[in-house]
Amino acid sequence: MSNFPSEEPVLVTCGLPYANGKCHIGHLRTYVPADIFVRALRKQGQQAAFICGSDAHGTPIVVNAEELGITPSELVSKYHKHFESIFRAMEVEFSFFGNTDSPTNHARTNSIVEALIERGYVYPQVIRLAYCPNDNRFLPDRYVEGICPYCGAVARGDECDQGCGKHLEPGEIKNAKCRICGNPAEYREQEHFFFRLSAFSGFLSEYLETLGGTANAINYAKEWARELKDWCITRNLEWGVRFPGHEDLVVYVWVDAPIGYISFTEEWAADGWEKYWRQKSRIIHFIGEDITYHHCIFWPAMLKGAGYTQPWAVVASGMLKIDDKKFSKSRGYVVWVDEDYLDHGFHPDLLRYYIANYTSHTKELNFSWKVFQDKVNNELVGALGNFLHRTLHFAHKNFGAVPEGEVDKEIYEKIQSTVQKVISAFDEYEFKKATDEMMELAAYGNSYFQSKEPWQLIKKDRGACAHVLKNCLQIGKALVLLFEPVLPGIMEKAWRQLALAGDVHVARLEEALVEIPSHELLAPEILFSKIEDKKIKEMEFILDRRIKIAMAKEKNKLEAGKEKAEITFEEFQKLDIRVGRVLSAENIKGSDKLLRLEVDIGEKRQIVAGIAKSHAPSELVGRQVVVLANMKPAKLFGVESKGMILAADGEGAVLLLPEKEVKEGARVR
Ligand SMILES: [Zn+2]
Ligand SMILES: [Zn+2]
Repeated sequence: MSNFPSEEPVLVTCGLPYANGKCHIGHLRTYVPADIFVRALRKQGQQAAFICGSDAHGTPIVVNAEELGITPSELVSKYHKHFESIFRAMEVEFSFFGNTDSPTNHARTNSIVEALIERGYVYPQVIRLAYCPNDNRFLPDRYVEGICPYCGAVARGDECDQGCGKHLEPGEIKNAKCRICGNPAEYREQEHFFFRLSAFSGFLSEYLETLGGTANAINYAKEWARELKDWCITRNLEWGVRFPGHEDLVVYVWVDAPIGYISFTEEWAADGWEKYWRQKSRIIHFIGEDITYHHCIFWPAMLKGAGYTQPWAVVASGMLKIDDKKFSKSRGYVVWVDEDYLDHGFHPDLLRYYIANYTSHTKELNFSWKVFQDKVNNELVGALGNFLHRTLHFAHKNFGAVPEGEVDKEIYEKIQSTVQKVISAFDEYEFKKATDEMMELAAYGNSYFQSKEPWQLIKKDRGACAHVLKNCLQIGKALVLLFEPVLPGIMEKAWRQLALAGDVHVARLEEALVEIPSHELLAPEILFSKIEDKKIKEMEFILDRRIKIAMAKEKNKLEAGKEKAEITFEEFQKLDIRVGRVLSAENIKGSDKLLRLEVDIGEKRQIVAGIAKSHAPSELVGRQVVVLANMKPAKLFGVESKGMILAADGEGAVLLLPEKEVKEGARVR
C-alpha cells in the first residue's frame, strides 16, 4: 500500500537558499529530489503545495553587504532573482517562492513570537556578550571570531565551523576578536531573550517516534532530544525581524527563516494556508542534513509552543563531494549551476537524473564529469533513449502509426510491477531505487525488442510485427510517465512523439496501464545525445583551473599570515650581517634577473643578487648595501656568490640602507 494519495493536505518544502551567494550543485542535491518527489505525488493523484523562498536575514548577509558597499536588501534581491531563475531553468517548479524579509513573514514571525511569550516559553536573561569598544557595538554571530570553548579550534561567533561543529550561543566564544576592526573584544552585559526549549523534551521524545522521513535525520534528533539547552533567540542587529517591544533587537535568523514556510504558504493561498498549518496535514521538509537540528528539534518545539501543526516528515539529503573531495567553495571544489552547467548547453534533465540516480538520497553524492558522461551515455542514451527511439523510428517507418491490436498481459504485468516498485521507493525517499527500477523497464524493453527481431518479422509476418511494436509502444508510454518527474523536459517531447493527448505533467501513473491509442506517428527526433570526450575534457579543465587558482590563493594567504618560529639571541648572533659598498655591478649573461656585484664588506666579495629587474647596474655602483656575509656560497649561472644582499618585499626588491654612511664592514646587530 502506498502512502499517497492521502486525505490530509500535503505541503512539501525545501530548505531556504541563503541569499548570499550563487547556486551550486550542492543546493540541487536537495531541491531536485524534492521537485521529483512532488511531481511523483501528482502522478499518484496527490495534490501537493511546493513551497520555498530566500532566507534574507542573519549576519553573513549584513557583513557581506557592508563589504560590498550595498544594503542587505539589495544583496538579498540580487540572489533572490538568481535562485528563482536557476530553479526555473532546472525545472524545479515551486508553487510559491518567497522571501523572509516580506511583510507577511515579519507579521507571522511577530505573531508566533508573541504567542510563545504569552504562553511562557520565552524569558529574559542578562548575558555577557562580545562588544567592540573601538566600533562601539555588540558583535553578534559572524561579527566575532575566537576560540571554541568545547574543542579549542578557531570558531565563528555562532558556530565552531572548522572544529567540532557545535552551535555556539552568544557569549560562549573565547578570545573574541572584532571582525570589523580586528581588535580584541570586551564582554559586556545585556538583557536578551531565550526560548525555553528544555520545556519540550517530553513532547519531542514522543513526537520524534512518530516523525517520518529519513533515518539519518530522525536518529540524530533522538540523540539530541535527550539533552536540550534553551536557545537565545535575540540578536543586536538592525537587519531582521524586530523582537516585539525592543527596538534594538531582532530575532535570531533561525526563528524567522523556518517561519517563512508558513508565511510563503499564506502568500500563496491567503484563504487556504491554515489547512496546512493549523489542522491535521502532512508537512514534508526536504533539507540538507547539516540543518537537521533546526528542523527536527527547534522548529517542531516552536510550532508546538505557538499552536501550529508540526512536520509529518523530515527528509535529509547527504552531503556533496566534487571529484571525491569534500565540497568547498574556497578550495575551488564547486560546480556552479549557471556558468559550469547551463551556460554550456547541458540539458537540465541530465543533471536531474544524475542527482537522483548516483546514490541513495541519504548518502554522500559525488559529482565527477567523467561519471556524468558515463551515466548520460550508457543509461540515458544507451538504454532509455535507445529504446524509445528505435521503437518510435521503427513504428513510424513501417506503420506510420501506433498499430491496432491488444497489448500482451505479460507486458501489462511487467509495467504494473515496475510502477508499484517505483511508488514504494518514492514512499521511502529512495530516488536511486526508483530510477533504477525505471531504467530496468527500459532494459526489459530493449531485450524484448531485440529478441523479437521486428526487422526480420516485418518481412515474414506483418501482423505479428505490428503486435510486437504495439507492446513496445505501451512500454514506451509507461516509461515516459514514470520518468516524467525526473526528466520533465525530455519526457514532454517523448509524450508528443508517442502522439499522446493531454499534458504529460498532469497525466497519472495509472495511465501506464491504459492501452496506447492507435494514432498516427510523426518522424521521431533524437531525445538524448551522447556527450563527447572533448566536452568533458573542457569541463574538467575548467574545474581543475579553479582548484589551482584557489590553492595558489590559499598558499599566498598562509604565507602572508605565517609567523615564523621564535629564535634565541644566540641563534640570531650566528648571522654575520655587515654594511658594504658596491664596487662594481654587471648583468650575468643568460639571465634577466641576476646581477654580479663586487662588494667591499671590509674585504672584497663577489655576490650574485636577483635584483636585475628592479635595478640597473649603473645606479648601484658606489651605494651602500646590507649583506649577509656568512651565507653558504653558491654558484648561480656558473658565477660564485659569497653572501646575500638584503632587501624587503615591495615593488621589486627594495634594498636596505643604513640610516647614514658607516664604515664598510660595520656589523649589524
Ligand atoms: Zn569546537
Ligand atoms: Zn571593532
